[in-house]
Amino acid sequence: KLVSKKWKAKPTSVDLGDGVYIKDGEMAIITGPCSIESEEQIRKVVKHCVENGIRMMRGGVFKPRTSPYAFRGMGIDGLKLWHSIASEAGIKIVTEVMQTSQIEEMYPYVDIYQVGARNSQNFNLLDELGKVDKAVMIKRGISGTIEELLQSAEYVFSGGNEKLILCERGIRTYEKASRNTLDLNAIPILKAKSHLPVIVDPSHGIGIRSYVSQMALAGVMAGADGIIYESHEIPEKAYSDGQQTLDFAQSARLAAWIRESFAMR
Ligand code: PEP
Ligand code: MN
Repeated sequence: KLVSKKWKAKPTSVDLGDGVYIKDGEMAIITGPCSIESEEQIRKVVKHCVENGIRMMRGGVFKPRTSPYAFRGMGIDGLKLWHSIASEAGIKIVTEVMQTSQIEEMYPYVDIYQVGARNSQNFNLLDELGKVDKAVMIKRGISGTIEELLQSAEYVFSGGNEKLILCERGIRTYEKASRNTLDLNAIPILKAKSHLPVIVDPSHGIGIRSYVSQMALAGVMAGADGIIYESHEIPEKAYSDGQQTLDFAQSARLAAWIRESFAMR
């Protein structure tokens, strides 16, 4: 496989411009709300990122919701608004693309296309993202194996797009005490098998706010190249995933802990 270490021993470095990278030997921190909700919210999160030296912001504008009646995002207009505010502050945008028709309209406003867990094996979407000259982060499928994640990455890489990032976000198991089971084992295994950077999403991984920070640190120590987690000024009022979202004070503390832990690794 082209994404395997056997094919390419040197770790892949994803260059997002302006000195922002996701790569082996650096710790990428990505935070932001589950959903982009309003201009006011965008401004607050951007400010939080700037104040804490966080260069990448996450947020969904097309949301894959279990219920069709739940908030499904601000759409492309939300992304344009977000981009105008974030780019001025030097903040890179990480956001989910749900279908092939969105790739082109999103292109000018996105830095990393996120492929969500529910689309992890949407092979048409992966094929199309393989033709794009922009970074792609693939999340592990809800019940996806490590091998299946690597095969999904292979679709994009073999299509010609080598700006690829893998993300462990927890898998569905028999355990009901947490939202998902964050598979920390996947981190060293993916790092050993592939030259691609690996990041960890402890928010979706455990789904419980008070445990997100410790699982993020566990991810750092397991060898991750970055952490992506959800934050919001008032998590209780978030339109989605509030139960697993950190407030800004918790997020600032976690970002500092991540950097300290990474320095000790
Ligand atoms: C998200 O990042 O908000 C999200 C929907 O993630 P996942 O696809 O991992 O469930
Ligand atoms: Mn979410």
